[in-house]
Amino acid sequence: MAAIIDGKEFAQRIHDFVRAQVWQIQQDAGQGSVPGLATILVGEDPASEVYVRNKGRKTREAGMASFQHRLPATIGEDELLSLITELNHDANIHGILVQLPLPAHINSDNVINAIAPEKDVDGFHTRNVGLLGSGQKAMLPCTPLGCTLMLREHFGTLKGKNALVIGRSNIVGKPMAQLLLADDCTVTIAHRYTENLIDHCRQADIVVVAVGKPGLIPGHWLKPGAVVIDVGINRIIQDGKTILVGDVDFASATTIASAITPVPGGVGPMTIACLLYNTLTAYCRIHQRPEPEETGFTLAQGIGQ
Ligand code: NAD
Repeated sequence: MAAIIDGKEFAQRIHDFVRAQVWQIQQDAGQGSVPGLATILVGEDPASEVYVRNKGRKTREAGMASFQHRLPATIGEDELLSLITELNHDANIHGILVQLPLPAHINSDNVINAIAPEKDVDGFHTRNVGLLGSGQKAMLPCTPLGCTLMLREHFGTLKGKNALVIGRSNIVGKPMAQLLLADDCTVTIAHRYTENLIDHCRQADIVVVAVGKPGLIPGHWLKPGAVVIDVGINRIIQDGKTILVGDVDFASATTIASAITPVPGGVGPMTIACLLYNTLTAYCRIHQRPEPEETGFTLAQGIGQ
């Protein structure tokens, strides 16, 4: 049976680490000086509301300041951009997160690229994407960062592993592939037009699935002993109840894989923990303090040749 990679427990460790760092900042710089995270939610998507609420709660639990902005779905792009400019200039705010997706009349790229890159705690700004892609120090996207930390802890080193990333979105698949490359994996990226996905799965020591289709990957597609990171979050009805499942058929995958993340309790909590971590990092960079990776977790920072 596969070992269960406990994202909840790992996330708690990151949370405790961030909280201790925030406490130290308060000792050094005074009670009023804490990292601040601003979240912007446009519209009333129920799943987004839950995510934003949880992010705010966790931010406060870590001792940081949370500023939540809720805007109607009808808001114009200009108004949203003005708010972001205001937050860029606000000295109490070190991280800015715009919850995606935005309503169709707003251009998400314009909005993301309006965030000051040093406050872009989601790591979606073109500048951070470019820095990561060229092996330079960047703000790293939270979900792929969380996945990488779990894989590193599991394996020690990822060097030389065959890694398959299924999904190529800007927020998960593409940066995930970059981070695995930075850790010296041999990386394959699969997407909706990939043929014979099963053949790619059979070769992979590491499979990261970020698609949004329940049961897409059955256990018998996996290489025996593979390590599986299931990013998917799907709400399905089972026995009259709504439950959350990933993209991997968990029951059959556990009989073939050597380790797997559960849904819920795997990638999700790590994503929020990495958001707190990034907000702390942003604070340290803005205030020129030693960065958390110098004092605690070591993260991917460069791609070799
Ligand atoms: P997306 O819709 O932007 O991208 C989905 C990707 O899957 C696309 O690149 C597409 O080409 C690929 N795809 C579609 N069908 C496929 C198929 N049959 N075979 C192979 N690839 C296929 O989605 P996203 O924003 O990257 O999110 C993916 C999933 O991860 C969703 O379920 C989302 O809810 C979840 N998610 C979870 C977290 C977390 O913190 N746990 C964070 C972000 C996203």
